[in-house]
Amino acid sequence: MVISVKRCVTILGATGSIGLNTLDVIHRHPDRFSVHALTASTSVETMSELCHKFRPRYAVMADKAAGQALSAALSDLPSVTVLSGAEALAQVAADPEADTVMAAIVGAAGLPPTLAAVRAGKRVLLANKEALVMSGKLFMDAVRTSGAEVLPIDSEHNAIFQCMPADRIRDTAGAGVTRILLTASGGPFRTYTAEALRHVLPAEACAHPNWSMGQKISVDSATLMNKGLELIEACWLFNTTPDMIEVHVHPESIIHSMVEYADGSVLAQLGSPDMRTPIANGLAWPERIDAGVAPLDLFRIGQFHFERPDLERFPCLRLAAEAFQQGGTAPAVLNAANEEAVAAFLAGKLCFADIPSIIERTLAAVEVVPADSFDTIFTKDAEARFRAREQIPGLAV
Ligand code: NAD
Ligand code: MG
Repeated sequence: MVISVKRCVTILGATGSIGLNTLDVIHRHPDRFSVHALTASTSVETMSELCHKFRPRYAVMADKAAGQALSAALSDLPSVTVLSGAEALAQVAADPEADTVMAAIVGAAGLPPTLAAVRAGKRVLLANKEALVMSGKLFMDAVRTSGAEVLPIDSEHNAIFQCMPADRIRDTAGAGVTRILLTASGGPFRTYTAEALRHVLPAEACAHPNWSMGQKISVDSATLMNKGLELIEACWLFNTTPDMIEVHVHPESIIHSMVEYADGSVLAQLGSPDMRTPIANGLAWPERIDAGVAPLDLFRIGQFHFERPDLERFPCLRLAAEAFQQGGTAPAVLNAANEEAVAAFLAGKLCFADIPSIIERTLAAVEVVPADSFDTIFTKDAEARFRAREQIPGLAV
C-alpha cells in the first residue's frame, strides 16, 4: 500500500483514557505517525514514561509545579523540551510543525488549546465534546474560517460520520438524511429505580458496563448527561436540530449510531466497544488502519436490544436538549454546572440523584445572553461554576 502522508501528531490530554488509546494506535504504525507534543495536567509519572517511549519534541504540563517535576524526571532526555501553563498548551496545539491534534483534555479546560488548533487549521480529532458544547457556533465559525478539518472521535459521532457521505456532513438535508439514531448504553444504572439512584457510590458510577473511560465521562454516562452533551455535539457537527435526532438506548453498545435516509435505508456502524476504532479512523482518514481492536463476534453477542431513554429517572438528557433550544450561553452554563456537580459527587459531597438538580438550579440562576464572543462564554462558565458551588452544600449527602 502507498502511504501518502506521515502525520505529525500532538496529543492534548495524553495521559487520559483517550490519550493513551491514541498512543496505542500510533505505536502500531511508526511508518505513518510521529509524536510532536504530549500534554497533561498533573500526572508526572505517566508523562515521564510516555516521553521516554515516544520521544516527543515538547512535553507540556498544565500545572506549573508538575512542569518542574517533569523537567527533573526528563533530565536524561535533552531532546524533549518541557513547558508548562495554559499558554504553552495553546502554543503546542498551534505549532506549525504538527499537522494533527488529538483534542482529548476533559472538560472546559480543553476549549482554549482545542480552539488554538482549530484556528491554526489543523486536522483536529475532537474527543473533547465539552469544548463544542460550550461554544458551538463560534467554534464551528472558527473551523470554517481556518479550514481546519474536524473529525469526530466520540464513538457515536464517528459512527454518524462514517454513515454519511463524507463531503455532505454539514448538509444532512441535501444528503437525504431524515433522522439520526444516536445510540446510548444507558450506563450502569439503566435499570435502577429513582430511590436506588439516591444511594449509588462514585466507584459504581465509574464502573461502566461496556466502556473503560475517564471518571468524568463515566459519571456523565451514568446520568445520561453524556448523551445530552452528545446531542448538542451532533447538532453542531452535522448542522442539524434535536428533533432530527432520536436517542436509542442500546445496552450492548455494538451499534455506535445510525443514519436514516429518505428512501428508508438505515446505515449503522458497528464494532466492539473500543475507542481505538474511532481514533484510528480519525488518524488515518480516509484510509483504514489496524487499530488492535478485537473482531466483532455477533454469534457471541446474539441479540441487540433497544429502549427509549427514561427522562424521569435521567433528567440530564432533557436539560441538555432544553439548553440547546434556549441557545446563547445556556449550553456553556449547563456544561459548567455539570462539571461542578460531577466533581462534588466524585468527592463524596453530593448525592448522584442531585446532580440534575444542581444543573437545573444553576440554569435558572444564570441569565442567558447571546454567545457572541469566547470572553462572554468564559465569563458565563465562571458565573455558572460559582452558582453551582453555592447550591451544593444545601444538598450535601
Ligand atoms: P481522562 O480523565 O481519562 O483524561 C483527561 C486528560 O486531560 C488527562 O490527560 C489529563 O491530564 C488532562 N487534563 C485534565 N484536566 C486538565 C486541565 N485542567 N488542563 C489540561 N489538561 C487537563 O478523560 P478521557 O476519558 O480520556 O476523556 C477525554 C475527553 O474525551 C472528554 O472530553 C470526554 O468526554 C471525551 N471522550 C472520552 C471517551 C472515552 O472513552 N474515554 C469517549 C468519547 C469522548
Ligand atoms: Mg460517546
